[in-house]
Amino acid sequence: MNIYFFSAFIGDIPRCSGMKGNFRMPKTIERAESMTLPAIVLKGAVAFPAITINLEINDDESINAIKSANESGSYILLVASKYPKDAPYTSDELYRVGTVAKIKQTLITPEGGLRVIADGVSRGTVSNYTMLDNGAIIADVICKAMIVCDHGVKGEAYMREVILALEEMSHLLNNNADELISAAKTIDDPGYLCDFIASSVLVKYDDKQMVLECFDPIQRMDAIIYLLNKEKSLLECEMDIHKKVRFRLGQAQKERYLQEQLRIIQEELGGDNGDDDFYNQIIAAKLPREVEEKLLKENERLAKTPFGAAEGVVLRSYLETCLELPWTKTTKDRVDIKAAEICLNKDHYGLTKVKERILEFLAVKQLNPELKSQIICLVGPPGVGKSSIASSLAKAMKRKYVRVSLGGIHDESDIRGHRKTYVGAMPGRIINAMAEAKVKNPLVLLDEIDKVGNSLHGDPASALLEVLDAEQNKSFRDHFIELPFDLSDCVFVATANTLDTIPHPLIDRMEIIELGTYTRTEKFHIAKEHLIPRQLKRHGLTRRVCKITDEAIYETIEYYTRESGVRGLEKQIASVCRKVAKKLVANESSRAVIDATNVKDYLGERKIIPETINAEDEVGVVNGLAYTEVGGDLLEIEVAVLEGVGKLELTGSLGDVMKESAHAAVSYVRSRASELGIPSDFYKTKDIHIHVPEGAIPKDGPSAGVTITTALVSALTGRKVRRDVAMTGEITLRGRVLAIGGLKEKTMAAYLAGVKTVIIPFDNKKDLADIDTEAKEHLIFCPCRNADEVLAHALVKNEPVAKPYMNTQISEGTNNIEIDYASNRIEARV
Ligand code: ADP
Repeated sequence: MNIYFFSAFIGDIPRCSGMKGNFRMPKTIERAESMTLPAIVLKGAVAFPAITINLEINDDESINAIKSANESGSYILLVASKYPKDAPYTSDELYRVGTVAKIKQTLITPEGGLRVIADGVSRGTVSNYTMLDNGAIIADVICKAMIVCDHGVKGEAYMREVILALEEMSHLLNNNADELISAAKTIDDPGYLCDFIASSVLVKYDDKQMVLECFDPIQRMDAIIYLLNKEKSLLECEMDIHKKVRFRLGQAQKERYLQEQLRIIQEELGGDNGDDDFYNQIIAAKLPREVEEKLLKENERLAKTPFGAAEGVVLRSYLETCLELPWTKTTKDRVDIKAAEICLNKDHYGLTKVKERILEFLAVKQLNPELKSQIICLVGPPGVGKSSIASSLAKAMKRKYVRVSLGGIHDESDIRGHRKTYVGAMPGRIINAMAEAKVKNPLVLLDEIDKVGNSLHGDPASALLEVLDAEQNKSFRDHFIELPFDLSDCVFVATANTLDTIPHPLIDRMEIIELGTYTRTEKFHIAKEHLIPRQLKRHGLTRRVCKITDEAIYETIEYYTRESGVRGLEKQIASVCRKVAKKLVANESSRAVIDATNVKDYLGERKIIPETINAEDEVGVVNGLAYTEVGGDLLEIEVAVLEGVGKLELTGSLGDVMKESAHAAVSYVRSRASELGIPSDFYKTKDIHIHVPEGAIPKDGPSAGVTITTALVSALTGRKVRRDVAMTGEITLRGRVLAIGGLKEKTMAAYLAGVKTVIIPFDNKKDLADIDTEAKEHLIFCPCRNADEVLAHALVKNEPVAKPYMNTQISEGTNNIEIDYASNRIEARV
């Protein structure tokens, strides 16, 4: 059943929703009257006498009630149920006071129900309800006569109070409050005023019922004031709550909005709030306890760091780096020496000594896996296979291989990392290598350990000492990581071009293996067996379509490369392969054969003019031997003696040590002038110019001492120097010849240049065992103890030699020295 109330004002009052009203003064009942009326139960609503009521009735019980009312004088009783429930009702469930109404109009709705318009007439008190079998309710009602309030002062005061209470409450309502108040002000009967307010404003049906049950207007006004104030307090409270809720909702929404923004920013920056991620990763990584604790602590710090703070970035990078490190992961070593040997031989030609040493190393490792601190240092010129043999070793041992380039580092932090407090802090190269290897027992190649510099920012070599020291590297501490990392399972292999610049403590910790310059033949074999097949494969060629003859290989070695190793040779071979590939693809030919005659079609004109000895013996020109980055070199030294005032001029980019050698040579010659047949005042009357050609190349070192001396003596005495002799050795003021380094490379250069005799310091005799067989077969070696011996070998025979010179003590310790008295030369063949 739908009920509509009409009252005098029009408009929607939200608080009183459902009440549309048409207020009118009721037809009053003059005196109390007993009536038996059909009752219509209003569920959750209360009708008032001053109101026209519009009912929409669909239930049979109420329809029957209306029908019987229409038959008996059109009066009905509208009564509220105590509880908002559906029919059937018991008499106890209905209020005893209702509104007697007169039906004005009844319409049948299209749905078969009734629309009833009735005017409230008066309050009625029910003495008895009778529930009929068809569900209809009949009420015995006493209709109360209207109690008219005389407008005394009290009534007036009450009415004002009612209006005031209504105003106060209405202000709390949103809209139409003014209309409601002005409508109320037009009513001058207190009783009606209360009924109007109750039906328009009050919300709860039991409050309305309470007003309905007040028959006395004063009492009703009391009730309505009370209810309005109660309603006002409720409204205030409600508004308060509403405000709070809105505020909280606003806060929550704001937070949600900010969080969403934050999430999107973090996503844009590449990564979400990873605290939980890190936590899970740390736990899942099963790290050593100390590491796990530290990482969890740092993760907590990260969680507390405000978003965007620089510290957060560092912490994040710290955690990422630490989690990348192989704290416990290892690979299993291959301990099969035979397999390792096969592996090494497969990758490298020759290098017998190196391979031998590596196999010894593996053998020891096999017998005593716990033995640490075997650090190999491969020393040799560039391109001789130091790095590649190290990588083969890793392959042979089935270890991961990582390369740490040490060339040009000056700061300790390069090795050991920066502390986290630094801007842009990061771990050092060792820890980075570990992260790259992903296992804690890789083979680490410390490349170019001789190029480690030193600066104000700490000594990187001392950090390297810790890395290489078996006692300390169990708990290597990187400044960035701040946790001990165990490096003791790593195999370290260092490479260097020279030992000269490596600090001694570092050399002490390493096992030095020297790799020398390759000979022509070795280069040939390496090219043929390794470089060419590798390059052919790399360029998608086969031996059948690209044939490089042996002569072409030799031609390339001699005239297109000048190096100790084979790196340049490999590049030239690659260049040939590229050109062949282009020809094949362009269909210019289906097969290429590269021989000595057509190498230049692929590589251009010969690039290297080999050093050769002079065509004739000359005065003041001596073949020296030098050791350079690319191997040995024949270095001519020229001396010119001119009329002058005793000036000594040195040209040809000579270094300090070499200049000192020149001065020492002059002093020696002065001290031996008379024995050598040189005027004793030559240093006053002659200017001496010592020049080393190829002046653009800086030269240094003491080993040119004997060469300068010989050239000086030759120039001062006018005796020629043998063009097929080359020499090396340091000289003292007294003419003693001291040992030098790089003999293997120097002799090879001499051999390649066409030299027949090489003068070497006596103390270097032991090194002759290492000299390349090919060079050994073609050269005569003359180990000399002093300058006189050198001069005896170098100066052309049958020319007068200063007498005292022949008396030098050549008898002592000249084992293996054959003395050829006929030629007045001492020659040693080893
Ligand atoms: P380094 O480290 O001594 O400067 P690399 O190891 O880089 O030299 O060697 C340069 C190239 O020469 C590599 O391709 C290497 O394989 C090759 N190579 C050097 N020596 C040999 C050799 N004995 N057998 C086969 N290839 C070699």
